[in-house]
Order: sequence, then C-alpha cells, then structure tokens
Amino acid sequence: MTISRRAFGLAAAAGALLPALPAAAKAVPPAGAQAPGFYRIKVGSVEVTVLNDATGALPAKMYSGDAAGAEKTLEAAFVPNKAEAPASFNQWLINNGNKLVLVDTGWSGGLGPAGGKMPKALAAAGIDPADIDAVVITHIHIDHVQGLLTPDKKVAFPNATVHVDANELAWWTQGDIKPPDGKPFWKSFFEIGRTALKPYTDAGKVQTFKDGAELLPGVIAVSAPGHTVGHTMVRISSGSDQLLLWTDIVHSTALQFPEPERSIVFDLDPAQAIATRKKVMDMAATDRLLIAGTHIGFPGVGHVAKASTGYAFVPLLWNANI
Ligand SMILES: [Zn+2]
Repeated sequence: MTISRRAFGLAAAAGALLPALPAAAKAVPPAGAQAPGFYRIKVGSVEVTVLNDATGALPAKMYSGDAAGAEKTLEAAFVPNKAEAPASFNQWLINNGNKLVLVDTGWSGGLGPAGGKMPKALAAAGIDPADIDAVVITHIHIDHVQGLLTPDKKVAFPNATVHVDANELAWWTQGDIKPPDGKPFWKSFFEIGRTALKPYTDAGKVQTFKDGAELLPGVIAVSAPGHTVGHTMVRISSGSDQLLLWTDIVHSTALQFPEPERSIVFDLDPAQAIATRKKVMDMAATDRLLIAGTHIGFPGVGHVAKASTGYAFVPLLWNANI
C-alpha cells in the first residue's frame, strides 16, 4: 500500500488497516490510571528524584500579551486545546547520601483528585516522609506549600525543618493580610500559606535563608524575584555537574519559551518576573545549564536553546541508567 494521506483515510474508513486478530485469550480491562510520576537523575554524586503532584492546564487568558497570538503559539505547540496552556506540578527530592531534602510539596488536597499525587510518587520511589530531613519552600504559593500538610491537615513531614527565603516568609506571614491588588485569589493564597506553615512554625521548625545560602554542601539558594518577593531557585553542583531547579521561572513551556515577555496573572511584579525570566533563560542557554521546572511537563528536566523567536525547551531523554 502506498503511504499517502488519502490512502490512510480510505483504509481507516474501510477498517482495513489491521488484519483480523485472533480471539483474545483473556479480556484485560484498561488500567485507566497513570503510574506514580517519579524520575531519577544523577548530578555528580547527588541523586535528584523528580516527583509529580499533578498535571493540568491553565487558561491561556491568564497570560499577558495578545490573546490571538497566544492561541497561535499554543496551536503551533500541538496543545489539545488552544485556550489552555498545559502545566505540570513537579517537586524534587535531593539525596546526597547523608540528607534527604524535598523541594516544594504540591497541592495536597487543594486540587481534588487531580492533584496531591506527590506522596504516592514519593512512596513509589521508596521514600518514607518521616525520613525527610528538610523541606525547602521556593515560594509560598498554594501549589508549592500546601503539601506541608496532608489533606486532613496533619503535618506531612514530621521530622523535617522547613526552609524559606526570609523576605518571602515575612511578606506572606507578618501582619494583616494585605492583598497587593484587586485580584480575588490572593486572600486564599495568604490563608492557605499561613495554615500550611503554622504547625511547623509553632514547633520552631521554620528557618529562613537569604540569597546565596548553602542549604546542603553544593546546594545553593538563588533568589529570582518577581513571581513573588522571595521566589527562590535551587542550584545543585557536584563534581563537574550542575542542575538548576528554576521552579516558577516558566509556567507554560508552550507559551513562555518562545515568548518570555508573557507574564502570568500570579506574578506579583510582572515586569520584574519577565526580566528575571529573560536573565535566567539567557544564562541557562549560554552556560548550557541543565534546568528543571515546576511547571514544565513532567519530568521537566532539560536544556534551554536559543531559538529564532525567544527560546526552545530541549527535554532530557529518558535514561534507564543513572
Ligand atoms: Zn507554581
């Protein structure tokens, strides 16, 4: 048979693409569920496990800039619905053989059954939450902080200290709740962030850090403000290897790699968020840095290539060996 679009269409219409199959030995119902998402990579002697809490999409209209252009960009990226920009929700577990450090915690019960899958991924990776020594919160947004508590509001990491940028913690927790603009979601962001941190604060288990702090040997906090006041990236260096957990530098791979000047409605200071994104992308492309993103499709690890317009994400390929 010739390969042509017409031939495929005709064959499909006639049901003639496959020969008749023999009767099945046993009917097996489809599983109807995905395996827990965890993926390991090695950075020098440090093992990093990417965990997945949720996958979903955010309305394209949450992004700044021209809406028709956004639809075209999403269509060119083959997204299923050009009104929605896909977003993953990834976290990371850093194991240097001595300490277990979790970076961010996911939604817990905040998204219903669509989210809060990180604990299952952690279990599938063979990790008991009680063995986690520290949790780094990159910023106090609901999709990063809520998993400090289980869906029934119990402490999820009983033996962990929680580390967060000093400016970030102060902004979200000191004084009255003062939403910075008229956007309706801020109030719940404040309340959920404060609730998630409270039992750890009450137990004296919240510690603050500043830009450049060494969280573990070779694991450095790097301030990347704009999305929030103390939005933090984590740079892991071991031997000649490096990995930059850039967290929320990008919310939509399809939109913001080619068009880094698009901000998202959750950016506290959109102009600063855009400037930070451009700076970090340029650094990652120029230095050929391996990066990992919270909202890049799981496992969301790869490189940043300069493209004719903006940048392109080049995913790291699955590697069965680490
Ligand atoms: Zn986020």
